[in-house]
Parts: sequence; structure tokens; C-alpha cells
Amino acid sequence: MGYYRAHMMHPKEEKTFVLIKPDGVRKGLIGEVIKRFEQRDLKIVAMEMFLSTRVEMDNHYPKTEAWLTRLGDKTTTTYEKYGHSVKRDFGTTDKLKVGKEVRKWLIDFMTSAPMVKMVVQGVHSVDMVRKIVGPTMPYLAEMGTIRGDYSADSAISANIEKRAVYNLIHASETPEEAAHEIKHWFGKHPIYKYKRFGIDE
Ligand code: ATP
Ligand code: MG
Repeated sequence: MGYYRAHMMHPKEEKTFVLIKPDGVRKGLIGEVIKRFEQRDLKIVAMEMFLSTRVEMDNHYPKTEAWLTRLGDKTTTTYEKYGHSVKRDFGTTDKLKVGKEVRKWLIDFMTSAPMVKMVVQGVHSVDMVRKIVGPTMPYLAEMGTIRGDYSADSAISANIEKRAVYNLIHASETPEEAAHEIKHWFGKHPIYKYKRFGIDE
């Protein structure tokens, strides 16, 4: 559902896609994550535990040059901020190549243990869920966010170990991304409609 059509639907119809990543499952945080969404009046409308294949993960993360360069650029900026050498850890300073390398680490990580996928519905659910989850880098996340309360990873520590940042959760960034990801991960599964007591009636 694009923003251009957003005026046609009630904000509480908005859906977003959430993945509890392997570190979240292995830390025993499935219940905690669901609790934090539900206590904020968000509604789980589909959910399943599964082990992703590399192909499924490859189709989940964008492959466009723009997305890869953004990932490489973000990584380079962090490295500069902390006086670390991208050249030493990645063997190149080319942002596209750095982005591709991080994407590969991400696929390794996301296929390393089971995950829980879900569709979460509620008022401005895309933004609400991102706020409850907190920013990408756990060491920068405020207490009170899921990442801020349960993780402490950073890009530098991850990249020295040649792996993705462990940050517990993936959540769609825009309604467009949510629509794409819901179709990708729940294409054949039902998305349920039901009324939550006190919220929908
Ligand atoms: P997600 O898309 O998983 O919800 P996000 O939107 O907060 O997270 P993105 O910038 O889309 O963050 O990056 C996707 C994922 O790639 C991050 O969640 C993190 O696991 C990993 N990642 C991002 N930057 C780095 C980095 N410099 N080194 C290693 N992994 C990274
Ligand atoms: Mg993202």
C-alpha cells in the first residue's frame, strides 16, 4: 500500500513486516518482542517460525546499486567516525563492494538459525514498529527500545569479525517495502482479520 493511496485507508489498517532474527530467537526474546507490539495496541495478523534458505534471504534484501551503495556508505561513515580502516577490513574503499560484502554477511547470519516472521497491523504500524525496535546500531539505541534493552552490538565489532550486526529484529522501513516483504514471506499464507477488544470496537 503506497503513501499515494494512504488517504483512502484508515491508518489502523496499515500493515508492516517483522522478522525476529536468529539472535533474537536464540536469546529467547520471541515472547518479549510480541508483548511489546501487543501492549502498544498493535495486532499480530500472521506469524510463523521458519528457517530461511539463502535464496529466500537473497530475494528479501534489495539488490539495487542504490541500496548496496547506501549500505557501503553507512559502513564507511561509521569507520571514519571511529578512525578505523575500511581498506584493512574490506580490502577496498569502493562503497558498492563494501555494501555487497555486508549483504553477504547478512545472508550468512539470517540463515544461521530459525527466525520468526510476522505481519503486524495497527495505526501507522510501519513507523510505530521501527520506533519500538529502535535504530539499526544497538549501541546507539535508547533504553526502552527492544534493541536498546537487549543488545549492544556495533558495525565495527561486527565487521572485525566479518559478520552482520546482531540487532535482533528486521522491520520494514516504508509501507512500500512492507507490501513487498509481506508478499515475499506470506504470499501463500493467510493474513487474518479479527477485532481486538478495546481497539477495534
Ligand atoms: P533491518 O533492515 O534489518 O530492519 P535496518 O533497516 O535498521 O535493519 P539497514 O540499514 O536496512 O538497517 O541494514 C540492514 C541490516 O544490515 C541491519 O539490520 C544489520 O543487521 C546489517 N548491517 C547494517 N549495516 C551494517 C554494517 N556496517 N556491518 C554489518 N552489518 C550491517
Ligand atoms: Mg532495512
